[in-house]
Formats: sequence, structure tokens, C-alpha cells
Amino acid sequence: MLIGSCYGQFCATSVWWQLGGWVLRWWSSVNRWGPGGHIPLRRGLVSRARGSSTGGGRGRWEKVAWAGELIRGCRSVRGVARGRFRDHSDDRWTRRRGAGDLPLRLRIAPWCMPGIDMDGLDHLVELQRRDGRHRAVGGVKFFIDGTVEGGTAWLEHPDCHGQGTAAFWPDTAEFGRAVGHLDRAGVQTATHAIGDAGVRHVLDTVEALGTAWMRHRVEHIETVPDGQLGRFAALGVAASMQPSHTAYTRADHGDEWSRRLGPERAERAWRCRDLREAGATLALGSDWPIAHYDPRQVIGAARLRRLPGETGAAPVQPGQALTGLMALEGYTSHAARAAGEEAVAGRIAPGCRADLTAFGLDPVLAPADEFAEAEVRLTMVGGRVVHRGGE
Ligand SMILES: [Zn+2]
Repeated sequence: MLIGSCYGQFCATSVWWQLGGWVLRWWSSVNRWGPGGHIPLRRGLVSRARGSSTGGGRGRWEKVAWAGELIRGCRSVRGVARGRFRDHSDDRWTRRRGAGDLPLRLRIAPWCMPGIDMDGLDHLVELQRRDGRHRAVGGVKFFIDGTVEGGTAWLEHPDCHGQGTAAFWPDTAEFGRAVGHLDRAGVQTATHAIGDAGVRHVLDTVEALGTAWMRHRVEHIETVPDGQLGRFAALGVAASMQPSHTAYTRADHGDEWSRRLGPERAERAWRCRDLREAGATLALGSDWPIAHYDPRQVIGAARLRRLPGETGAAPVQPGQALTGLMALEGYTSHAARAAGEEAVAGRIAPGCRADLTAFGLDPVLAPADEFAEAEVRLTMVGGRVVHRGGE
């Protein structure tokens, strides 16, 4: 399974932490950059990671990682990381600490921030060559806005406090030039866009490219009007959404997110089903630690429009629920397409990577509340069994 999400640096740090202390330590020591390299938490996280390990030495980190939550069937973490990799060659990366034997795939998209110059863009292009057997730099991450609750989502009309009227990029034309430069260089972009104006602007930006070379992606899409739905498929832009975020809102609109937007925009919350029916590629994710990273939970929330197990909670916009198959596709075939990896991932087929997760229940047909607790019987990465249920 592929976990697509919109991790900011902090989120990426947290994900790696959750995957196991040794992964974090290993990552940090290999490239001397580390997922927390640019935030003050780095020292604390690394020391916590060391404290959680059972000892040093090659191979030990893997056991710790697998003792953690990784066994839940996560096959690939498509994180986003800020900062720059040091110049370690691929050989060196691969040689050290058994990098080729990572028990999962890491895919990292460095950030592109306002004010970047041509050298900075070229550096982002150069970084795309960094890859190895189980980890790669793939794409570049942008933010066009913030959050609804924080008053920083970019909205077509202000929220009830008069906020949400500005993009994160002070010069939105500069954003367009950066996306265009990367597109021409064959680099996929993923843009965090939560508000309706933010989503529209990303689509406008791709449309302005003429024929985009790459399949670009929009992350979140929390509220969007009818007129934007069909543009995703028409422009070949993938949608990446986090259905379990609906649990932070309430069906009766009594929550902060809904209050700020007002009833009309709150009725357009996380339109997963409408986007699928409009032909969009729809990858699912969690945005951990905003919501639980477990794909079984997210698949459940996509089908139920509430968290699995919370049977007393009223579903939020139940008409936007996905079918079991659509939800599974959000973590497999559609996630692969969103990442531009459909030729090698997301399906069980000759020529594809043998990255497999076997569950104790049918992810399509089992009741969503039950599937959220399903056993992970087997996990395979690149043809290697890295987890068996019960071990
Ligand atoms: Zn985001």
C-alpha cells in the first residue's frame, strides 16, 4: 500500500519517528540531514530514538521498526521534507547501514518556498536523481495556503472572521513560474491547497502550462465548488485527500471548521465521491499526525465518513462516502498514479514491484468498521517478506 499525504517537515519527522526510532536515527546518520534537521526538536527526537532502540549495530534498527506500527501494512511513505540533502552519492547512501534493505519505501518531496531563485529550483531538480532501492526523492512540495481553522486557508470569500483572503505565496505568479520550471524539467509537484481559491489557483496554474508534462497533485482539497470538480480529470491533476479529517468536523456544523466556512461551503466538505465520479485520480492519506496514519483507519473513514469504531457519530456528508473498491484504490492503483508510478506500483501484475500487503479480511467487501481492525497477515517489499502476522 502507498501512504500518500501532505507531510510538512514536522509531520514527516513524526512519521519516521512512528515508524521506529532506528529509522529516524539511521536516516539522520546517513545523510547528515535528518528529518528534523531544521527544527529545534531534532536533538530531542534523535535522543528519544536512541533511547527507544535496543542497541546498536547494523540490522537492529529494522527490528525496532517492525516492533512498532509499521506492521500495519504500510508499504510506502510519501513524505515531504524541507531542507536540502547533503551531497552523498547514491552509492554511499546505499552502502551505509544496509540502506538497500529498508523494510519500506520512502519517497520524499523537498519543499519549495516563496522567494526561491533559479539556483534553488535547479537544486530541487538535481535532488530528484537521489534514489536507491527503497528510498527516493520524488517531486517537490508547495504550500499555497494554510488551514481553515487557523484562518489561513485561501478562500474565494472570507470566513466568518473576515480571514482566509490571501495565498501563502505573496506573489502567486512566482508560484506559477516555479511550477512551470519544475514541470519542464520533468518534476512532479504536489501543492497543499485547502481552501477553494487555493485549489482553483493550482488548477489554473497547471492549465496555464498548456500541456503539462507531469501529473501534478493537489493535497487536501477540503472545500471545493462544483465548477472545479471536473477540472482535475480534464487537466490530469491528481487529488490527494484525507477522509479521516472529516472526523474533526461535525455533521451538524457545530465545529470550528464548519463555523468559519458557513453552511454552504461546509456542505462541500471533502468531496471524495464527487471527485471520483468526475473522473479524478484520488489518492488517500492521513496527514499523520493530524490523523491516525493507519491505512485501515483511513479506508474505513473514507467509506463511513466517520472514524471506524465510532458507530454513534453521525457521518459527515455521507453522500461523499467511497465504495470499498474506491477506497482501496486510493491506497493502491490511484495512489500509484498520483505518484506517477502506475507502471510499476499499485497493482499485482507482471512487471510491477512485488510490494504486497495481505489482510485477514477482504478490504473491499468486509464491513469498514471490521476492516479497520483486520490483521495484517503478510507484508512484502520488493519481493522480500518483511512481516508475517503473529510474529
Ligand atoms: Zn498539507
